[in-house]
Amino acid sequence: MKRSDYFIPTLKENPKEAEIVSHRYMLRAGMMKQTSAGIYAWLPLGLKVLKKIENIVREEQNKAGALEVLMPTIQPEELWRESGRTDAYGKEMLRIKDRHDRDMLYGPTNEEMITDIFRSYIYSYKELPKILYHIQWKFRDEVRPRFGVMRGREFLMKDAYSFDLTPELAQISYQKMLLAYVRTFARMGVKAIPMQAETGPIGGKLSHEFILLGKNGESKVFAHKDWMEKDMAAPGVSYDDTEALQKYCDGLTEIYAATEDIHDPATCSIPAEELVETRGIEIGHIFYYDSKYSDSMNSRIQNEKGELVPWYGGSYGIGVSRLVGGIIEASHDESGIIWPEEIAPFDVGLINLRVGDEACDKACKDIYQQLQAAGKDVLYDDRNSGAGEKFADMDLIGLPWQIVIGPKGLKNNVAEIKNRKTGEKREVALSEIVSIF
Ligand code: ATP
Ligand code: MG
Repeated sequence: MKRSDYFIPTLKENPKEAEIVSHRYMLRAGMMKQTSAGIYAWLPLGLKVLKKIENIVREEQNKAGALEVLMPTIQPEELWRESGRTDAYGKEMLRIKDRHDRDMLYGPTNEEMITDIFRSYIYSYKELPKILYHIQWKFRDEVRPRFGVMRGREFLMKDAYSFDLTPELAQISYQKMLLAYVRTFARMGVKAIPMQAETGPIGGKLSHEFILLGKNGESKVFAHKDWMEKDMAAPGVSYDDTEALQKYCDGLTEIYAATEDIHDPATCSIPAEELVETRGIEIGHIFYYDSKYSDSMNSRIQNEKGELVPWYGGSYGIGVSRLVGGIIEASHDESGIIWPEEIAPFDVGLINLRVGDEACDKACKDIYQQLQAAGKDVLYDDRNSGAGEKFADMDLIGLPWQIVIGPKGLKNNVAEIKNRKTGEKREVALSEIVSIF
């Protein structure tokens, strides 16, 4: 993409309304624009990142055997009366009346709707287990929308729901999701610590919040110092190998057990010197809800004996749009964003230091075409503006690699290559550039 054809409305000044770094950089890098409190329009650069995150989430859900569906944003309130949650949600729920005076709402989550879909089609244990998910916009009329996309009112969430014949089988679905989350976040290049959240309805350890550590996180958390160094990369466990899955999750649970009540050091069993105080952002939440929706919404399935019995479920959320801000919180410096490679909006930024100079234009055009032919997504800054502005912009946008071509280097047939993360620069022969990427 040529920068001159593209649309990245970068800002030089820090917007006053942005309190935290991710919000500032998202606005300054022209990734999104606020359209109402807590509601944003995604501009091309921001949308690219959002889609990359969404796709990683999707691929990892699919690998874990979850099936994608797409439920609407608007739901009939009736379903929520069945589950009894319409009042529980209170003012966070945006209620709407249609022209026939029917009560509708903009969905804050989808347990009721997925239960309704499930009960319409699935009657037998033979069709279980099932994990269904979608990636859809949600609306919660938050009291204090703030920090940009981190706490919006409209936000993109992946929510999955599992259906099993027994609590024991439901635990396997839970473990699959737990492992899928570890893999999802590892692929994004971020470290999210699974912290045991409040215990589920039947006890056990079936509720975890995935916390991305960062100094601007909304909640104060205490983590065992071993977590700081722990490599989160998931092991080669197969989702079909129930035993290995159980073993992997038990291994994690041992660490949770050691870090029980990690949110509150006063009641924590770990010696204070082994705790690190930090802040965190919740980017995902998984929990087991037992037969709650099966019971409240009168959804039954047949077991092996032909008896009608409840099913057991869990729900599994990831804040897809929150992650865009969360990742920036975890990965930036004073010049701008530093995207992990897997979610960077472009692979490489190409800077032409002297647009209009025949040699520079030609060298840039060649490199641009060669990289594209090699399947790389390149942002070519071909604008006729000062070098300082181009460098600053490219650093702000945070692509993992920059290639700088100017008249001086061209005399020796070299370009400068910069790694955004390490800041390391080196000269590379023009003929070798493509083979590096
Ligand atoms: P929080 O405590 O941050 O309000 P929650 O417990 O209400 O989160 P869930 O209902 O578990 O969140 O939703 C699943 C995921 O959706 C959360 O882990 C978070 O990443 C994301 N999320 C929730 N609320 C928002 C919001 N207002 N803006 C952006 N993302 C959100
Ligand atoms: Mg909330």
